Amino acid sequence: MPKYKIAIVGAGPAGYFTAQALQKAQNEELTFTIDMIERLPTPWGLVRSGVAPDHPKIKTVSKVFEKIAKEEGFRLFANVELGKDISLKDLREAYDAVVLATGSATGRKLGIAGEDLKNCISAADFVPWYNSHPDFTNVSVDLNTDTAVVIGAGNVAMDVARMLAIDPTDLDLTDIAQQALDLFKASKVRSVIICGRRGPEHAAFTAAELRDLPKLENTDVYIDADQIHRAAIRVDQMGEVEKELKNNLEAMRLITEHHKKGVERKLEIKFLSAPIEIRGNGKVEEVIFTINEVKEGKVVATDKTFSIKTGLVVTAIGYDAVKYPGVKIENGRIANIAGHVEHNVYVTGWAKRGPVGVIGTNKSDSADVVDLIIENLEAPKNSTGIEGLLKSGHEVIDQVGWEKINASEVISGELAGKPRIKEVDWNRLISLGTS
Ligand code: NAP
Repeated sequence: MPKYKIAIVGAGPAGYFTAQALQKAQNEELTFTIDMIERLPTPWGLVRSGVAPDHPKIKTVSKVFEKIAKEEGFRLFANVELGKDISLKDLREAYDAVVLATGSATGRKLGIAGEDLKNCISAADFVPWYNSHPDFTNVSVDLNTDTAVVIGAGNVAMDVARMLAIDPTDLDLTDIAQQALDLFKASKVRSVIICGRRGPEHAAFTAAELRDLPKLENTDVYIDADQIHRAAIRVDQMGEVEKELKNNLEAMRLITEHHKKGVERKLEIKFLSAPIEIRGNGKVEEVIFTINEVKEGKVVATDKTFSIKTGLVVTAIGYDAVKYPGVKIENGRIANIAGHVEHNVYVTGWAKRGPVGVIGTNKSDSADVVDLIIENLEAPKNSTGIEGLLKSGHEVIDQVGWEKINASEVISGELAGKPRIKEVDWNRLISLGTS
């Protein structure tokens, strides 16, 4: 029976769903061994370092990942970096197919003056910082300001704004990084303003996230009722529109009508506000915006501007794929045609389609890529796979090693009433996983 060797690079949702699709595709004539290669000492990708700590339900998908990892023929090789510890060329020679599921981790830039000022931080740094990513423990975050501005009208902006705006004691029983929790507790931020450059009808938030906002117990949420009313009129004039858009507008309308508690903490969503300059003397002090308007369905700039005095800007305007030697990036994605990169190399997830879609989106995406792989399979290679490709003595965290880290984190968490306390130190993660 032919047994094919597949390498999946990246142990995030897209990687696991690719493994699952391969496992499901097996039959009497086709079997796979799957080696999942991950740069970090820990798997789960954005489920570990992206999903907001106050959204534990979303993280339960990790149970599915662990089930996939327990299937016969699956092996984890964490703490192995593509391009450093192993080359794409070597992987291609050793495996029948290589699937890049490396995500999009580079925060896009606004490209405006002042973006490099201190305390203008990309969500690509801010989010992994509060989620205990070992590479981001040293991100410098200063919350000694009463107002924070978050740029972008998507779910990442919403996550970031919520983390800054909620009462930090609400995060006590989550898996947030302790250093972030400490800083949030000392934070002077009381007003968080999300700024979207287009109208409410163009916002990338999802309705479920918007509907959660009025439920915040210690934060009042504001959206200009007039902006929503005007957007609703524009949408009515469009004729038939997607249900999601109607749901989003309705969720925003409900926010405008929701009773305000009169609390100190505020979260505001402002639309049609395009940042044109960040000003400050060595550090963020003010953001200048152009007021946009929607004219005949198009978003256009007016000649009016306004400014917000703020000591912190977080940009949440999307991500680009990370570049690896031997991989071409096009429009922020690994260059591909429907998931095919070249010969026996494939790509899936955000690295393939760009940073869009929720965790579940990767399931169908990865299944499509697996169909393509199967279609293109040739005679199975007679190779030993990853063995022999790594330098001797390289400390690999395998599935058993990861389970040790996982158990240690969960046990520490239990003692503190939290789901887990993540280890943030790279060396300690390795020693936990290899002991
Ligand atoms: P996103 O949904 O694409 O939103 C990016 C936002 O940035 C858009 O509003 C975009 O506005 C704005 N933007 C881009 N360039 C800009 C610029 N130069 N100036 C001002 N604004 C700019 O991306 P995301 O928020 O990073 O989320 C990525 C994916 O993860 C999404 O599919 C999201 O739903 C998902 N996600 C889901 C959850 C959840 O389910 N709880 C949580 C987090 C993320 P334009 O539309 O005008 O370009």
